[in-house]
Amino acid sequence: MSETFDVIVVGAGLAGASAALTAAKAGLSVLVIERGEYIGAKNITGGMILTRVLQDIVPNYWEDAPLERPIQHQRIMMTSGERALEIDIGNSTFLNPPYNGFSVLRKEFDQWLAGKAREAGALIVTGTVVDDFLYEGDRVVGVKTRRTEGNIRAKVVILADGVNSLLARKAGLRKKYGHHDIGLGIKELLALPAKVINERFGLTGNAGACYAAIGDFARGIPGGGFIYTNKESVSIGMVVQPQALAEQRVTADEVLERFKARPEVARLIEGGKLLEYSGHLIPEGGYTAMPKLFRDGLLVAGDAAGFVVNTGIVLQGMNLALASGRCAGETAVLACQKGDPSTAVLSRYTTLLEQGIALSEMKAHKKAPEFMRSPRLFDQYPDLLNNVMEQMVTVGSDPRQSLMRMAKKELGNVKLMDVVRDALMGVRAL
Ligand SMILES: Cc1cc2nc3c(=O)[nH]c(=O)nc-3n(C[C@H](O)[C@H](O)[C@H](O)COP(=O)(O)OP(=O)(O)OC[C@H]3O[C@@H](n4cnc5c(N)ncnc54)[C@H](O)[C@@H]3O)c2cc1C
Repeated sequence: MSETFDVIVVGAGLAGASAALTAAKAGLSVLVIERGEYIGAKNITGGMILTRVLQDIVPNYWEDAPLERPIQHQRIMMTSGERALEIDIGNSTFLNPPYNGFSVLRKEFDQWLAGKAREAGALIVTGTVVDDFLYEGDRVVGVKTRRTEGNIRAKVVILADGVNSLLARKAGLRKKYGHHDIGLGIKELLALPAKVINERFGLTGNAGACYAAIGDFARGIPGGGFIYTNKESVSIGMVVQPQALAEQRVTADEVLERFKARPEVARLIEGGKLLEYSGHLIPEGGYTAMPKLFRDGLLVAGDAAGFVVNTGIVLQGMNLALASGRCAGETAVLACQKGDPSTAVLSRYTTLLEQGIALSEMKAHKKAPEFMRSPRLFDQYPDLLNNVMEQMVTVGSDPRQSLMRMAKKELGNVKLMDVVRDALMGVRAL
């Protein structure tokens, strides 16, 4: 391939497809290079995609996107011993267009979105690894692939190669991840008939539910479990801190098995036939751990740029991948129109990210990673809340205490100052 493209996008995940679609729609020549044998082969999620950004990128996306279920119920589960406290945030309007979020399976979904980029004119090549960049002086002017005659030139390169982005490191945009900047996600896909899913999760028709769970099944490892209902399957998994696993000599599988063995969880997945097992890293360092987002001729989007917000209740990666990919695509259009892919023009990327949701979400939840590291959050607080709620629903022979007295008594060995500090941090972080 000796052609020069306006834009080369590395990676055909959601960030890459969104960037390619935006640039191709504006009439640029776009090449997408994906290392997977087919689109979607390497892409993993829990997962629910929040769909506001998707609606902007593909209006009325629900008419032909391969979606699983619109999520009507978002449930929080806190386990402690024999008890499990569940909170249900349900909204029936989430079942109507433009919806709030859908459960998705990435193989189908990524192929659909990449198909939209292809329809807009982007050329997509799979089974090809990009290893390095072509430079002219300090400026990136293309990529080196592992194919023979695999050097290809472009005016702008967009890196959307996911969490491991060795290329962002090669380009000097990011350093090695710190221990706290990375989460490990593992997931099982279990087949269950739609009727059984509806009965067990209390759903009707195609409505969906998801769970975010924390508690004693993790035995102090920061992180939590998730469950998402699909049409005819259930996604179940964990996101945990690899460093804590290593320190406690526990595997992520062991934590997942303990989660699956909880009676409240076991009844939801009983008889589910294992269809897929997958694992993947997640950049969880948040705003302060983000790399530089551009240099001459190069922009970085999605997980490669650390665009993930994890509040323990909602994990936003796909949404921000779409949003940042779109901004990268728009910036590339501007650079090509001006014939100037220098940092002076590419700095417009930051402005676009700030005007949209990508950077504002990252900034709004800047303190979430620190909050999520509190060991009390995953262990002591679920216990405390379960104790208080249990007392509220149990009438014994002793005189009834006020809620405040119960809470004070249950604080036990959790220091009041820590609770106040965590509460304040939680309010700021979430
Ligand atoms: C277990 C788990 C649960 C999650 N749950 C949720 C959820 O519920 N909601 C949510 O919004 N997010 C969730 N996320 C996060 C979300 O999946 C990611 O944020 C999102 O996939 C990022 O998209 P991306 O396009 O940036 O990267 P990716 O989807 O990782 O795509 C990167 C692409 O680049 C390709 N690539 C990499 N290197 C090269 C190379 N050198 N040359 C060519 N191609 C290359 C890869 O093959 C891949 O296709 C979850 C993640 C995990 C692991």
